[in-house]
Amino acid sequence: MKRNMDAPQIDLMRQSEIMARIAQRNGSRPERPAAFVDTYGCQQNEADSERIRGMLSKMGYAFTNDESSADVVVINTCAVREHAEMRVLGNIGALSHAKKANRDMVIAVCGCMVQQEHMAEKIKKSYPYVDLVFGTHELPRFPELLESVLKPNRKRVFAVTSSDGEIAEGLPVHRDRGVKAWLPVMYGCNNFCSYCVVPYVRGRERSRMPESIVEEAKSIVLEGYKDITLLGQNVNSYGRDLNRGVDFSYLIEEIDKIDGDFIIRFMTSHPKDATRRLFETMAGCRKAAPHIHLPFQAGNDRVLKAMNRGYTKNGYLELVAEAKEVIPDIVLTSDVIVGFPGETDEEFEDTLDVLKKVRFDSLFTFIYSPRKGTPAAGMPDPFTREDKQRRFDRLLELQYAISAEKHAEYVGRTVRVLVDGETGDEKANLSSRTAGGRLVHIRGDADNIGKFKDVKITGSTTWALFGEIV
Ligand code: SF4
Repeated sequence: MKRNMDAPQIDLMRQSEIMARIAQRNGSRPERPAAFVDTYGCQQNEADSERIRGMLSKMGYAFTNDESSADVVVINTCAVREHAEMRVLGNIGALSHAKKANRDMVIAVCGCMVQQEHMAEKIKKSYPYVDLVFGTHELPRFPELLESVLKPNRKRVFAVTSSDGEIAEGLPVHRDRGVKAWLPVMYGCNNFCSYCVVPYVRGRERSRMPESIVEEAKSIVLEGYKDITLLGQNVNSYGRDLNRGVDFSYLIEEIDKIDGDFIIRFMTSHPKDATRRLFETMAGCRKAAPHIHLPFQAGNDRVLKAMNRGYTKNGYLELVAEAKEVIPDIVLTSDVIVGFPGETDEEFEDTLDVLKKVRFDSLFTFIYSPRKGTPAAGMPDPFTREDKQRRFDRLLELQYAISAEKHAEYVGRTVRVLVDGETGDEKANLSSRTAGGRLVHIRGDADNIGKFKDVKITGSTTWALFGEIV
């Protein structure tokens, strides 16, 4: 697939002109108007919100944490689980009071949830005070869309297209995560796992040009960020659509060459596309974190096939063995779905078996949530919520024990950490992460934030390590 990069760049110039126009209007107001951006869901959404904030900042908006006093509220939504959608709808509902108090407030809802037609319709009908709804592919047109709802006698605007989207380079980015930066390397997904809505709401895989990514990485390092996470739904297929002979390992190698002391992380890796070359690249690049998040989702081959995951339990275990062989101190994390339609108690035992064999450092665990329009949502499922909850509890109990044991193995060791923030707890007032991503609570001055420190580990729990700066 060859992408046409020209069209979005020309449109981007138009968006820049609109941003300048809005900034001029905002500049003539006695007080700088304020915006509130609320983000749900994954890191990709966080990265999109940084671009939304970047555009808002260029348009002359300051930022507030108080949505009721904001002039513009943007809610960037997630569609991965029903629970997240319910939370978003609850929060949109609560905004009706703020809107009554301030009729000029602009309420915008964007992201994956509203990319689904039925949800965009729901907002149109049930939340008449929402001014603007825009889907994932419309993000670069945010200034134009905002300008149309800022006009006198404003009309509601709904912009949800079903194209696979282009990549718009050069959008302003407003990062405020202190020492950590997200860096999207690709968008969309081609995998169509049978439970997942992402390919429908984010379109097909589109890789950014390696030069653009490396340039952005350089500027992130220059700005002082110490921890860069390369983002994509399936980073291991990076570059396939570019036909330039570049892959994800190449990208890590190029970013590793940038001068400076920083860590390179990435997510998410799909097991069917992870390779020995990736592990060897991680081992060979000094700045690459010895951590891989490798979602296995289920341990049973029939369930994996029904999920359309493209690997088997043994294939996954062999891959993990290879990763451990190439990077002996690798930190492994994963995602698991419990209660996929039709998964039996016996089949669930295979999931527990994977936990016992791999011994993940930590897990992100979910009870299956049907997503409208996906094949799995139409599969028969004789098991009750209670059956699934019972399995879920067993899964957590096992994983908590493994995490606690793995954390206890750190006690007495000295590890290098990046101090990334304050905890609010007097006894261990700073939080930090090892290169492998383990959370370490320490005591020290706040001016350690953003610095690498050697820390002696003195204690551990299921969720964190505790240590002293040496
Ligand atoms: S790889 Fe599967 S689970 Fe991940 S985003 Fe793509 S379709 Fe969804």
